[in-house]
Amino acid sequence: MSKGKPTRAPEVGIIYLVGEKLWIDSTPVAQAMNFGGYLIHERDHQRYWRLLVKRGVVPNSQYERYPRGRVSYNKKSGIFTFEADRCILREKKLVNAILSRMHLPARSTETGTDSLYRCVRCLGRSL
Ligand SMILES: [Zn+2]
Repeated sequence: MSKGKPTRAPEVGIIYLVGEKLWIDSTPVAQAMNFGGYLIHERDHQRYWRLLVKRGVVPNSQYERYPRGRVSYNKKSGIFTFEADRCILREKKLVNAILSRMHLPARSTETGTDSLYRCVRCLGRSL
């Protein structure tokens, strides 16, 4: 869905998958926070989860239960990194939806897993 804005600046941000629904909290890369050699979204997963719980749109449970991910921007390489739970990455449809909603250039976006981003299902499998 277009917001009718002429510019589509790429964004960095954090992502949750709750059931079938994606929750994305993001910032245009030009307004993102410096973190080492990266530009990242300022709000972290925990704070974003509390906000969603407060709004009553997600279950009031531990944020670690749900698949999550993060898009950051590597200032040196000019590459966006999308790190996420396997539950998100194995669904091409979801990955495409995220890239498109955050206006990420497919050619300069790398996707991968991060051991940080493992939901209870993934953790259960690896134990
Ligand atoms: Zn998972």
